[in-house]
Amino acid sequence: MFIDVDRFKLVNDTVGHSIGDQLLVAVGTRLGDLVPAGSLVARIGGDEFVVVLEGLRDVAHAVALADGIRRSFAAPFRVGESELYTSASLGVAYCDGLTAGMDAETMIRDADTAMYQAKDAGRDGVAVFHTSMHDQVTARLALERDLRQGIERGELHLHFQPVVQLRDGRIEGFEALLRWNHPVFGAIPPVKFIPIAEDTGLIVEIGGWVVREACRQVAGWRREIPGAEHLYVAVNVSGRQLRDDSFADTVSAALFENGLLGEALAVELTESVLMDDPAAATEVLGALRLMNVRLLIDDFGTGYSSLAYLKRFPVDCVKIDQSFVAGLDQDDTSDETLVAAIIAMAGALGLSTIAEGVETAAQELRLRQLGCEVVQGYLYSRPVAPEVVPELLSQRLDASGRALRRSA
Ligand code: C2E
Ligand code: MG
Ligand code: MG
Repeated sequence: MFIDVDRFKLVNDTVGHSIGDQLLVAVGTRLGDLVPAGSLVARIGGDEFVVVLEGLRDVAHAVALADGIRRSFAAPFRVGESELYTSASLGVAYCDGLTAGMDAETMIRDADTAMYQAKDAGRDGVAVFHTSMHDQVTARLALERDLRQGIERGELHLHFQPVVQLRDGRIEGFEALLRWNHPVFGAIPPVKFIPIAEDTGLIVEIGGWVVREACRQVAGWRREIPGAEHLYVAVNVSGRQLRDDSFADTVSAALFENGLLGEALAVELTESVLMDDPAAATEVLGALRLMNVRLLIDDFGTGYSSLAYLKRFPVDCVKIDQSFVAGLDQDDTSDETLVAAIIAMAGALGLSTIAEGVETAAQELRLRQLGCEVVQGYLYSRPVAPEVVPELLSQRLDASGRALRRSA
């Protein structure tokens, strides 16, 4: 069994490394108490433990024991004066002793792979290794290799989705969204390759390119399209980028090279990115604030949704997650209650809101009634290639030229 303590980093970050160390000792002790006599319990990495059990009846027996361990984490761990709560993700690799070519290293690797599956499924779970997981790992490695090559070969590009003011239909900015055209598989969605880029650290290089390319494009539009002098572009930023020392420099260089002020750029961060490393976030966001770069909280409502960080970080705007917007034209009113609450809360804190994923006129109507002023979604436009942007902008100019001139 491969056992990983869930969110251990959070323990270290919130109560300190010394308490973290003591928690690991307590976890080790509990594991030792739980496993049958003669089993081996080892700590093989930071918050990772391996348990080797012999003489089991079958794989179901192994899973039952693993689940017993998982459930035992429900009880708090005594650390000094306090009690800590945590959970664990477990991966099981089973071998009946007769399998050829099976050795300890392979079993640990397989259990580790299964553990990742348990994490992906939402933590606090048990997963059993299956060879198909191995195929997934191989496929992922291939995709990682392709992504490295794809960067060099210029297979990545940006699409832009307008951010629209409901009042007059005016486009106030664009969100830059990454696209990867794989030579064999065609378009690969960002949800598939961005996690790989994050895990491998490639996101730092890719993200730097995104910032430069987005700045280059928006500088061109601001220069060349009448009425677009105040257009901004919003880029999505991963936690890994924020922890990279050079991020603020990357941003200021991109702005400078394109003759832009910070107001031409917005940065989208999710709640979890902010909370995973609040110290790093505070520093980088402080630097961005000095440049006048706007900060948007992406997918708001799906994470911690903590009021404390809205106050702590220099946030300008929250983007209401599309899952809530999708619920606005349904009979169930719970999403509507949530959206209303987010808009009221943001307003009280002096923040603006952007509703994401608006697809129907009914959703738009509800958003208007709830006081949302800025929207984004297929109802207005899908993300488009940069060549299409001037056309989108000019359509809006025709439709609402008066309003545009007033605000321009
Ligand atoms: P996100 O930042 O929340 O972006 C919004 C996603 O919603 C985009 O998906 C967009 O195409 C999609 N969308 C927009 N309007 C609608 C709508 O009306 N209905 C529906 N169903 N979807 C809509 P996309 O382009 O697939 O991007 C997915 C995610 O990938 C983004 O979510 C963002 O988290 C990430 N991502 C994209 N580009 C980058 C990037 O350059 N860097 C990083 N770190 N992440 C990126
Ligand atoms: Mg976004
Ligand atoms: Mg979003």
